[in-house]
Amino acid sequence: MRVLITGGAGFIGAHLTRALLARGDSVAILDNLSTGNFNNIREFTPHPNFAFAVDDLSNALVLDRLASSADAIVHLAAAVGVFVVVERPTETIETNVLGTHAVLAAARRYRCRTLIASTSEVYGKGIKVPFSEDDDIVLGPSIRSRWCYAASKLLDEFLGLAAYREFELPVTVVRFFNTVGPGQTGRYGMVVPRFVRQALHHEPITVYGDGEQSRCFCHVHDTVRALLALLEQPQQTAGEVFNIGSNHEVTINQLAATVIERTDSASTIQHVPYSEAYAPGFEDMRRRVPDTTKIGKAVGWQAQKSLEQIIDDVVRHEAEGAGA
Ligand code: NAD
Repeated sequence: MRVLITGGAGFIGAHLTRALLARGDSVAILDNLSTGNFNNIREFTPHPNFAFAVDDLSNALVLDRLASSADAIVHLAAAVGVFVVVERPTETIETNVLGTHAVLAAARRYRCRTLIASTSEVYGKGIKVPFSEDDDIVLGPSIRSRWCYAASKLLDEFLGLAAYREFELPVTVVRFFNTVGPGQTGRYGMVVPRFVRQALHHEPITVYGDGEQSRCFCHVHDTVRALLALLEQPQQTAGEVFNIGSNHEVTINQLAATVIERTDSASTIQHVPYSEAYAPGFEDMRRRVPDTTKIGKAVGWQAQKSLEQIIDDVVRHEAEGAGA
C-alpha cells in the first residue's frame, strides 16, 4: 500500500511511518514541522519506499501531487497542544478545518482510502462515562478559545463523514484519547513527557488543578496497531467513527506518583491552579474514558500496554537524551 501521512513528522505519524515501512508499504509525508520535528523522520530518509515534503497543508499543488500517488491518506496534521490552541485560536481553526477540507478534496480526486484524526476533546463537557461514539456532545462557550480545538475537530469529522455519504469516499474518523510513548514532546503541554522530564531532574512535578481529574493513557504502539487494522478494513469501517484509547483510568495525581516511583525520583508533587497554568477561566474535563467496544467488534483491537510500560518507555527515551 502507498500511504500519504499528513503530519507524519509528528509523534504518532513517525511511529506509524516506522510500522508501515517495516511491513513493506510505501510512505510519503507532508509536514510543515510546526510541532513536528525532522529528527523524528531522519532515520527513514535513506529508505527506498520513503519520501517527504516539508510543506504546509495549504499548498494545494504539493498535496495534489502526493495524493495522486497514494492509495491511502492518514490525515494527522493539525494544530495540537493546549498552549497552541489557547494562544493561537485562529491558526488552530484554520489549520484544522481548512487543512482537512484540502485533504478531503485531494482524496476525492484520487479515490484514496482516508483516515481522519479526531480527538476525545470532542466529547467536551460530557459526564456520561465511558464515552461512546454516538453520545451527544456538549462543548463550552465560544468565548473560551480552548473549545475551538474540539469544535474544529468536530467539523473535520462532519466533513469526512459527508465525503463518505455524498461521494462514497472511504473515510473513517478516529477519535484518539491520550496517546503517549517515546518521542512525544512535552513542549505543548503534553503531561507524561513533562512529568518524566521533571522527575528525571528531581524537580517538583507540576500538577494542574487539584490533580483528581483522570485520563486513560494509550501507548502509541497500540494506537498504531489500531490505525493499521482500520486501514485494512475499509468495508467494515468507512463512514464510521471509532474511539482509540486505553480503558485504564488514572488520576493525574496517581500518574505523577507512578512517574516518581518508576524513576526513583526525589521530586515532590506541586499543585498549580489552572488560572496560572493557562488563561484565567480555563475549563478542564474531569474524566475522559473511552468505550472501545465498537473498534473491538470491527477489527478486534484493544489497548494492551500498561501505564507502567508506557512510563518506562518514555523514561528510557528521555534518559537517552532523545526527548525534544
Ligand atoms: P504532533 O504535533 O506530534 O503531530 C502533528 C503534526 O502535524 C506535526 O508534525 C506538525 O508539524 C504537523 N502540522 C501541523 N500543522 C500543519 C500544517 N498546516 N501543514 C502540515 N503539517 C502540519 O501531534 P500528534 O500527537 O502526533 O497528533 C497527531 C494527530 O492526532 C493530530 O491530528 C491530533 O489532533 C490527534 N490527537 C492526538 C492525541 C495525542 O494524545 N497525541 C490525542 C487526540 C488527538
